[in-house]
Parts: sequence; C-alpha cells; structure tokens
Amino acid sequence: MALLHDLVSAQAERTPEATALVMQGQATSYAELETASNRLANLLLELGCAQGDRVCLFLSKGSDAVVGMLGTLKAGGIYVPIDLDSPAARVSRIVQACEPRAVLVEPRAAKLLTDTLQAVTAVPRIIAMSGEAPDVGRGAATADRAALTTMPGTRPAGRATADSAAHILFTSGSTGFPKGVVITHRNVAAFLDWACGYFRIAPGERLSGHPPLHFDLSTFDLYGSLSRGATLHMVPPALNLLAPKLAQFMRDARLNQWFSVPAILTYMANFDVVAQGDFPELERLLWCGEVLPTPTLRYWMERLPHVAFTNLYGPTETTIASSYFTVPRPPADELDDVPIGTACAGEQLLVLDEALAPAATGVVGHIYIRGAGLSPGYWGDAELSRAAFVANPADPADRLYRTGDLGWLGDDGLAHYVGRADNQIKSRGYRIEPGEIEAALSALDYLRECAVVGVETGGFENWAICCAYVAADGTQPAPATLRRDLMTSLPNYMLPSHWQAYPALPKNANGKIDRPAIRERFASMLTSSNHSMAGK
Ligand code: AMP
Repeated sequence: MALLHDLVSAQAERTPEATALVMQGQATSYAELETASNRLANLLLELGCAQGDRVCLFLSKGSDAVVGMLGTLKAGGIYVPIDLDSPAARVSRIVQACEPRAVLVEPRAAKLLTDTLQAVTAVPRIIAMSGEAPDVGRGAATADRAALTTMPGTRPAGRATADSAAHILFTSGSTGFPKGVVITHRNVAAFLDWACGYFRIAPGERLSGHPPLHFDLSTFDLYGSLSRGATLHMVPPALNLLAPKLAQFMRDARLNQWFSVPAILTYMANFDVVAQGDFPELERLLWCGEVLPTPTLRYWMERLPHVAFTNLYGPTETTIASSYFTVPRPPADELDDVPIGTACAGEQLLVLDEALAPAATGVVGHIYIRGAGLSPGYWGDAELSRAAFVANPADPADRLYRTGDLGWLGDDGLAHYVGRADNQIKSRGYRIEPGEIEAALSALDYLRECAVVGVETGGFENWAICCAYVAADGTQPAPATLRRDLMTSLPNYMLPSHWQAYPALPKNANGKIDRPAIRERFASMLTSSNHSMAGK
C-alpha cells in the first residue's frame, strides 16, 4: 500500500503545473508543493530527524502547513498539528507527550510556542516556515526560511512503511489530558481507496478544505485532493462566522465537493444563505462528526436537487469515517432519522450487547468498529489503548474499537445512531470530554466540587456545556471569573456556557454525583429561558 506522501509525489509528477491548493487567493502548484516539502524533509534530516520522530506544526491552515505535513512524512517523521487557538498550558501537555524532534512555526504562533516550551522538558529544534525564527530562550536551536531555501529540492530516500505512523491527532481526554490518536499511512490510504472511488474524485476537481487541520476530517480533504490531482480550496476559518460570505466562497471557488461537520450547514441554513439551484457545479455534499439535524438536511436537499448528500460516520480512532449513507431523497418528515448506513470497504460496524454478543436487529447496542481504519492506539498510553481497542470475541487475533456510541441495525442492514453511552459532548463539531473540563475546574482552589454535563439544544452549537459547582468557602465566584480562569487551560470551545451554583451537588444512592439530576435541572432552565426569549 502506498505511503501518503508518495501518492502526492506521484500526482506532482503527473501534473506538476496543476494547482494543488488555494488559500486566501494564493495558489500553490503541485510542483511547488513537491519542491518545498522536499527541501523541508532534507532540512529535517540534516537536523537529525530519524524515522518515527515527531514534528509539531505550529502553523495555521495554509500551504506552509501542508508543506510541513508532507516534508515531515518524507523525512520519515510523524506530524502533530497543533490547534493555535488552544492555551499554552494545554499545548504544553501535547508537546510534552510527543517529545518532538522539531517544531515548525510561523510568526503568528511565536508567542504560543514560547509559552508552550517553558513547560516542556526537552526543547525541540525550531524551524521558522516564514519570517524569522522566534527567540524562545532555553538555548533552542533554530533554523529559518533562509536555511530552508538552501536545501536541495530533491526527494530524500524514504524509510517509512505503510504501518508507520503518519500523524497523531489529539482529542479531548476524559482523564483531563488530551489523548493522541496515532494514525498510520495504511489507515488513511485504506479510507482513500474507498472514498476516492465511491465519490469519484477526478483530476481538476475543486474540493473544500473546511475543518481545521487538527481535525481528522481534514485528512480526507487533503489527501483525497492531492492524491487525485484535484485542487483543495482551503476555507479561511474567519468565514465560519459569516454565513453569507461562506456561501459566496463556495460559489466563487465553484466547488465540486463540500465536506464539513453538520454545525456549519445548520448555521448557513439558519441564515438562509443558499438559493434555489445554488452552487451549480457542486456534485457532492458530505458531513461527518455528529448528527445533521433533519430540518437542516431538508433545507439543503430541497434547494440543491443536483447534489448527492452523504452522511459519513466514524470517530478519529477509526480514521475519518467508517460508514456512509447517501440520502436518496429529502426526508419527508422533520423527525425522520438519517441512517449512518453501511460500512465503507475494509471496515465493519458491529452492534453488540454488554456481553459483546451481536444485538438482535432493531435492538440498541454498543457500536464497535473493526477493519482497516483502526488506529494502533493512543500515543504513549497503553492502558487507555487496551480499554478502547479490545479483542474481537469472534477472532482474538482481530481488534475492535469501542466507539462509546449506541446504535441499532435495521433489517435492511443499515446502521442507525442513537446517542452516546457516556458523557461525551459534541459542540460545533468539537469532541469534548466533560472530564477534561472538570479536571481543569478542579485545579481552581476556590471550588470544592463541580460536574460538567452536556444538554442537547439543537441548532448550531447542538449541545450546551453546563457546569454545576460548589464554592470552597461559601463565597460564590461569578461565572465570568470561572470562565476567565478556565481560559488559561482550556480552548474556548470547551468553556461552559451555563453555570449553576449549588450548596452541595446532588448524589445518588451510591454517593456518586447525580449527573442525570443536574442535566435535568439545566435542561429545564434552558427550556424556560428559550420560552421566555420566544415570548419577548
Ligand atoms: P470525532 O473523533 O471527533 O470524529 O468524534 C467521533 C464521534 O462523533 C463518534 O463517536 C460519534 O459519537 C460522533 N459522530 C461522528 N459522525 C457522526 C454521524 N454521522 N452521526 C452521528 N454522530 C456522529
């Protein structure tokens, strides 16, 4: 099976002059991408990068980040995209866990990198992809763009195999630490084999690049485009707050494929920015990551009868998506549920009961996934990996990933998603473990107890993050204070939006925090505030 960077290099040989990607009006050709990533790979090798070394990318969405990914892979490394909007305390944990040989940085991320490295034991090499290398102190060795341009543009000999890790994607962890999902070349290539064929991605097509580069969905946009000679139109993140401009972006780029989390589709529907027959060249609209509300789907399908709509389902741990369902016609009723469908080639979806026996048709069970997309496990956390990736009772040599999702299989073989078996929340496409928020809250010495729950609200956010708390000394901290203090350790999307102070948290018969009771109280508070808003 081909390595990811080989797929892109082969395409660069076929169509060197074709446009590989466009960001903010700037086009990069396949040949430019190839030469720049070769130069970076040669520099990384010169700096001692060995097979399997990690390289953290402190780079925003754009061509430098793609060069960073391909260059790292060509040097035999594993890239780790960093969310530049995360606070330094959280990024430090990620960098500390990865122990990177090098970091790639741009001027915008210089402060984040400097702050991050203060809490990291081994200081990596710093390579500035643009501008001057920042002075982070701590005796860090640096290289800047000038060093890159003197490197040979020829491709170094590769050392990776299909089972080598290509990247590590960090996602929220319930124990309070972000967890790193290791993804191999083979994991991604297997998905591409199915997806590029099923969606018939063709040379010269124009594909969207909507999700941030630390989301696993972006992997499909990137390698789906660049292995097939298509052009990746990266969506500037600022457009996410401007629904009409986002629609205009889709028109101007004359996209053939759009792929995003549902939240953005709901947002655009709420602003009613899609005209009848809009985006005439759009052929496919795909979503993944959470349930697309049926009213949103009807809105889009009714306006774009020329487009095929596909629901993709799967967690990061099984690489991009594991099942799909192309919706044949607009759902008749707003309450109709859209199946998560059938497994992509090379994958299998199993619905099992508590004893890991197959659940009967129509009976809700736990969704497990097996097959080509399964990650080898979490970075540096064998215990967590053992808990999530279990032996297949039907074949102990095989592994299953326990998704934590509940679902059922229909007589027609289509799988349906019901909800979570645990407390995991999805908000605006972000996967959030309440445990990570609670761990950050526990570090605030003026709180005695806290519990974070998700309350389903529908709409753009989909879930509201709600926090019940008990002050340590009776003086109630204001939610604004709590938010401000949490911002130093959590990204904005993890900050609770609703707060309730309790004299003591309610407990169940076993003495555990009664989360259902807390959720119930927040749910009625949200319903009544919605009603009173509606009455205004
Ligand atoms: P992530 O790892 O961020 O992609 O999140 C994976 C989780 O998102 C899954 O375990 C599901 O709970 C949810 N998810 C992903 N795709 C879908 C979908 N199409 N419909 C419903 N939930 C989804």
